[in-house]
Amino acid sequence: MALPYTHHYDLSFSALNLKKFDSSHLQPICCLRCNSSVSSSPFTEKHSLQRYQRDQWVYNNNNQQRPSLSCGDEAASCSVPADSDSIRLNDITLQLPELRKLLQVLKHKRESCGGQVPKNGLGDVFLVGTGPGDPDLLTLKAVKVIQKADLLLYDRLVSNAVLDLVGPDARLLYVGKTAGYHSRTQEEIHELLLSFAEAGATVVRLKGGDPLVFGRGGEEMDFLQQQGIQVKVIPGITAASGISAELGIPLTHRGIANSVRFLTGHSRKGGTDPLFVAENAADPDSTLVVYMGLSTLPSLAQKLIHHGLPPDTPATAVERGTTPQQRMVFAELKDLADKIKTAELVSPTLIIIGKVVALSPFWPQSLTEASRLVEV
Ligand code: SAH
Repeated sequence: MALPYTHHYDLSFSALNLKKFDSSHLQPICCLRCNSSVSSSPFTEKHSLQRYQRDQWVYNNNNQQRPSLSCGDEAASCSVPADSDSIRLNDITLQLPELRKLLQVLKHKRESCGGQVPKNGLGDVFLVGTGPGDPDLLTLKAVKVIQKADLLLYDRLVSNAVLDLVGPDARLLYVGKTAGYHSRTQEEIHELLLSFAEAGATVVRLKGGDPLVFGRGGEEMDFLQQQGIQVKVIPGITAASGISAELGIPLTHRGIANSVRFLTGHSRKGGTDPLFVAENAADPDSTLVVYMGLSTLPSLAQKLIHHGLPPDTPATAVERGTTPQQRMVFAELKDLADKIKTAELVSPTLIIIGKVVALSPFWPQSLTEASRLVEV
């Protein structure tokens, strides 16, 4: 569903230069919801670019050709105020003049509807989890808030289908990061949330999955709370839950897995070995779910096996889980990295390792038989 009246502001000046995602060479390995075309990903840069182009916003880094904002009576030139009383506001404004205009519109709206101004004069900020991609996995609370928002900030993991629920008068801002390119720093996102909340807007920060599971939601909450802005969190279905349900994998199962552990494959800036957990995590009675683990999987698998996890432990990797473009591979732990490579899975991909994976109706029986033969 297209939203012709929705304004999409893409904060990324380099959006037009983003590497196009070429999925034409990818073949579905095993697809629950196979689609004849895998090219219309709800997660790729191409998708953001399409949104960006849909509204014909053209941003020039040198500001020579500023886009004009056409929002009815509010249309006006978007000049940068020389005497801004807030450096923070000015910074944002310098980078995207329309934001200044939008702030003015919101302030005006707030002044003209006096009675509706919140007691403390600040708007509400919601941190909303949007689940792994399927819009039917949103909570009712999330849908209500998404529909009443003035401004929504979203990133790459928020699917197209979820964005289609946004109300016609709302403003959408893309604040995503793409591999190797951070279009907005975390600090700038904080500043944006604050500026708009101060203008009395209902601001919604959409986060894929659950905002408090590897979502940096805690940092955004911290910052805003320090500024006196209350943040309400609306949980989302984290990728581990949404994807395991889709695949029919019980994350815990009596007699097979008595615990589940969520890991990140990413290294922390300045941290030591990102895979330092491998020693503790190599528990055959536990299920491991690895987020952001594509690039470090070869090393993680090796370490887990080294620390005692059987090499034939069932495992799966799922790309774009719960969306029409979902692709997945199943393999024993020792072979998973190779299979992922052959299938050319890309981010976002979730990895699940543990005996419970073999309970999935999609687990290839041939693999079970092969391991039985090895045991015999
Ligand atoms: N807050 C999110 C996680 C963000 S970290 C959540 O709760 O799910 C980003 C990682 O999540 C991705 O690299 C990938 O490992 C995983 N992920 C999120 N959505 C996914 C999806 N639809 N399919 C596969 N992996 C997903």
